[in-house]
Amino acid sequence: MYSLRMIPFLILVFLLSACTGNKAELYQEMTKIDAHVHIRTTDPAIMEYAASEGFKLLTINTRSNSQEDIDSQKDFAMKMKSLYPNEISWLATFSMENFEEAGWADGVIRKLQEDLDQGASGFKIWKDIGMTFQDSLGRFVLLDDPLFEPVLEFMEASGFPLLTHIGEPLNCWLPLDSMTVNGDKSYFKNHPEYHMYLHPDYPSHESLMQSRDQVLARYPGLKMIGAHLGSLEWDVDVLAERLDRYPNFTVDMAARVCHFQVQEPDKVRNFIIKYQDRILYATDAGVSEENVEDRIKWLENEWRSDWSYFATDSLMSSRNVEGEFMGLDLDEEVLRKIFYSNALAWYPGAFE
Ligand SMILES: [Zn+2]
Repeated sequence: MYSLRMIPFLILVFLLSACTGNKAELYQEMTKIDAHVHIRTTDPAIMEYAASEGFKLLTINTRSNSQEDIDSQKDFAMKMKSLYPNEISWLATFSMENFEEAGWADGVIRKLQEDLDQGASGFKIWKDIGMTFQDSLGRFVLLDDPLFEPVLEFMEASGFPLLTHIGEPLNCWLPLDSMTVNGDKSYFKNHPEYHMYLHPDYPSHESLMQSRDQVLARYPGLKMIGAHLGSLEWDVDVLAERLDRYPNFTVDMAARVCHFQVQEPDKVRNFIIKYQDRILYATDAGVSEENVEDRIKWLENEWRSDWSYFATDSLMSSRNVEGEFMGLDLDEEVLRKIFYSNALAWYPGAFE
């Protein structure tokens, strides 16, 4: 039998499990949005799985080096949208092919307008702008280049939001042994061509951030979502400063939850509570014809462990993070915003 001395302990266990239980029920009952995925398949299994977990998806067309590749992504996105109109939406992107030719921007605008007419919910700009494309004089083309002015003016006037993936995690500019999360260490070890620490001739992290900031300042009517915590993932104070400076800026946390997990939990918790209207939940899952089953397993783990991190005060571990870390135990109102209503607000019309 239990001794009397154990009663306070048993009450504590009961209260803790009741609390975790309520949040588990909330996960089951709540509609959620994964606001940054890449779906290149029409396999119904992925949509069925997402629905069974209560997730809707925003699939994002990306990469700027090939119109053919963009068209193929758009094709998958439009087919999925027609099959699951309330469960999925998509963002359009544009090709940089022949960007120095006269009339390039007009062509981009024409195509983007066509994408909107065909149901796109906004636009995406990828990191190859800033980090890959160089003009005929060998200068890197950054987001604040005059080249993009007509395109950005069009985007602002359209009223549709722009998702920008500009730059990379700051780790990319650091030596491998100074990187803060295991995923970055292995990614940049395997992709030295993208490891900017090895390429001092490429634009600095700071200059890439400045190019994005210039655009935020120049187009205050353009609603911009900074993918991957706006590449300011290493310190919530730095990110907070940008959110304060630019009311038209918000961020998704695609593939960057681990960067919250390596920071001081109280600081991250206070940041999320303060900026609860400016943070969108997302994973960056890439699903193609070949990997649907694998990706479903991966998503099951991501969605559920991320939920535990944000919703409970569990002691957790992850392959990406050295040592253990505490869940943030956010309340229901905040969870509903970051997992759902912020995506509705920043991608209006996408899920209605
Ligand atoms: Zn992505």
